[in-house]
Amino acid sequence: MKTVLIGVGQAGGKLTRALVDFDERMEFGAILGAVGVNSAKADLSDLPFETVLVGQDRVKGHGVGGDNELGAAVMDADRREVLSALDGSVTAEADAVFVVAGLGGGTGSGGAPVLVRELKRIYDVPVYALGVLPGRNEGAMYQVNAGRSLKTVAREADSLLLVDNDAFRSSGESVEQGFDAINDAIAQRVGLLFASGEAVGGVAESVVDSSEVINTLRSGGIAALGYAAAESAEDAEGNINTVMSTTRRALLTGTSLPEASKSDAALLVVAGEPDKIPRKGVERARRWVEEETGSQQVRGGDFPLQSGRIASLILLGGVERSDRLEAFMQRARDAAKEADGTEEREDPTDMWSTDQLDDLI
Ligand code: GDP
Repeated sequence: MKTVLIGVGQAGGKLTRALVDFDERMEFGAILGAVGVNSAKADLSDLPFETVLVGQDRVKGHGVGGDNELGAAVMDADRREVLSALDGSVTAEADAVFVVAGLGGGTGSGGAPVLVRELKRIYDVPVYALGVLPGRNEGAMYQVNAGRSLKTVAREADSLLLVDNDAFRSSGESVEQGFDAINDAIAQRVGLLFASGEAVGGVAESVVDSSEVINTLRSGGIAALGYAAAESAEDAEGNINTVMSTTRRALLTGTSLPEASKSDAALLVVAGEPDKIPRKGVERARRWVEEETGSQQVRGGDFPLQSGRIASLILLGGVERSDRLEAFMQRARDAAKEADGTEEREDPTDMWSTDQLDDLI
């Protein structure tokens, strides 16, 4: 799937950089172009692609400090500059545009929905968002901001691929080291998803195609991505159980939104050397995904890759009924109540309506 990326805010920029690095290192060529957008000048300085500083007249390059309404306003005011930075990248070759952002901050949280809406007006290709949810230990402001941003992005985008910051965090790391590790984990998974369908040497019918990614995301709402890999056996026969176990791990313990396993649609991509991918194992795994997700639409395909490992990548479309998401929404509502004492306050998990979004900007 040939993709153009727009990283908004600090997390959005860093994640976009990790995605571009991975795509280059693997020589996939699935990312056609990338742009970084921020209201904080310092956060744009080490991004190795074109950048746009928004809101200079209002915040003088110092960022919006967690104020996501201001994030939305500055993005709207400077949207033309952002769109013109993208112009050369969204060519006829592009299959999709992804807006990448941390949902808990200011610039990305407020700016991403505004930008998604603009992009949808202009381009015919699907406009997706890759959004990061704050971890449990992050402060109330992050939870409140993310609650509101999530619902709005999910409504505006063709699909919101969600990553929970707690999904890939390992203990004993500083927050910064933690982010780097999380970004690498996301880049590997999402990078493989972009590259599947672009695989060279994949002429067999079983090779996954970009349209299958797009069709899996077609139901809209929220999506999640699971992944697990293992050492490959010498031949396909020896990999039957391996594919089954990587698929189980990918869905049950390896998704970007933990505990999200019920979905409207799913795509199982098995990556590895073509002659070592077991047809029988893939079919069995696909049926298991069907049962486990309760989805009638489980697509499947191979991703030929020269590697000593075999991997299962599972894209889940329509996971909004997951317990994890409900738990997050409750956390966002509680955080809003706590921040405001007993005062009646707007529910942060009420999405910005189109009118409100218009008012904000
Ligand atoms: P913005 O620049 O105002 O959009 O704010 P940030 O991008 O810093 O958004 C803050 C949220 O993103 C918080 O929930 C952080 O935990 C998270 N975040 C910040 N940097 C990173 C990063 O590099 N990786 C990940 N995964 N999350 C990050």
